[in-house]
Amino acid sequence: MAENKIIYLDNAANTLVDPEILNTYNKVIQTYIANPSSIHFEGQKASHLLDMARQQILDCFRLTNHEVIFTSGATEANNLAIKGVAFQYANRGRHLITSVAEHPSVLEVFRQLETKFAFKVTYLSINSNGGINIEELKKSITSETILVSLIAVNNETGAINPIGEVAALLAKYPKILFHVDAVQAVGKVNLNYAKLDLITVAGHKINALNGCGLLLKGKKFELLPLLAGGGQEGGFRSGSNDVAMDVSLSKAVRLALANIQSKIAHVKPLNQQIRDYLLANSDLYEINSPIDASPFIINFSLKNRKASVVVEALSNRGIMISSTSACHARNETISYVVEAMGKPEQIYSNTLRASLDTNNTTSDISAFLSNLDEVVKGIKR
Ligand code: PLP
Repeated sequence: MAENKIIYLDNAANTLVDPEILNTYNKVIQTYIANPSSIHFEGQKASHLLDMARQQILDCFRLTNHEVIFTSGATEANNLAIKGVAFQYANRGRHLITSVAEHPSVLEVFRQLETKFAFKVTYLSINSNGGINIEELKKSITSETILVSLIAVNNETGAINPIGEVAALLAKYPKILFHVDAVQAVGKVNLNYAKLDLITVAGHKINALNGCGLLLKGKKFELLPLLAGGGQEGGFRSGSNDVAMDVSLSKAVRLALANIQSKIAHVKPLNQQIRDYLLANSDLYEINSPIDASPFIINFSLKNRKASVVVEALSNRGIMISSTSACHARNETISYVVEAMGKPEQIYSNTLRASLDTNNTTSDISAFLSNLDEVVKGIKR
């Protein structure tokens, strides 16, 4: 490996900022000086630019009946979607449905609603491929159900949920709103966003800056805002807009949603290269990502070594992968997602995730695999 070269394979946690997107941010922050809520010329100029950014986002997602709510990231968007629906429509019913394999920014919201606000929550199980079962969802729906919230692409395993099928099922239940955490799907797998009521997007997973995200919301229903105040973002998220951030995010969305097929074509062989190595060494590794998972993520376990030791040893060699998900503030190494897939303790306690982006190369992967091989085989048991 060339000296000082970092091999970054943790793109599901954070992507590298695209210089073009940073350039947009820098240009806007220098040329648009005013608060877009101000009615003077400079304010209106900023407001117009923001409107264009919103329209571009809707066009890129092919949405005509949605509105854009800029947020600080996906955690806020998930909280707004779920609590916003629960509190707005509690009078219609107090039953909510999600799955056991959601990101903590969804799971913990449901736990709060359940324990502190007396909502009833059904947590759908996942199958051995990491996705939910439609029949179980059908059986869980009651006359009290007001919301279903599901992850589109699992952030740990890359497993893809049958979002289109769920949307088709829920179309028969006009009282139930469908929220999708699409953070790991945007620009990575094809989704028909127009069928979804609420869609969560994170900027830092699509090469934008940290600290920005979106909730795309259908126009036909209300949400109780979490942040009350000056009424920005249609009243759903008060607080002065960061125009440069919002405009640069709209550019990131445009770039992410353009040429998805060519991005998939880039990462698929890299994913396969990793898979082939793991399969050839099946005495050491078990692959957890199903074969039809997002090609941007490959999750596997060590059959007889500790994952945290391997992550640290690779990190010391300049190779960044993760054990479970970096989104857990605590340094947990147990994967509740892989556990829910029905795997044994050694497997769900020692998961590793390599996550890819289009800047990764075959030689990055070769270097990763030869170092992984050396590290794992070098650990005394
Ligand atoms: N949802 C998913 C699927 C994620 O992968 C993440 C972050 O990893 C989040 C939500 C939370 O995103 P953020 O940290 O930007 O709030």
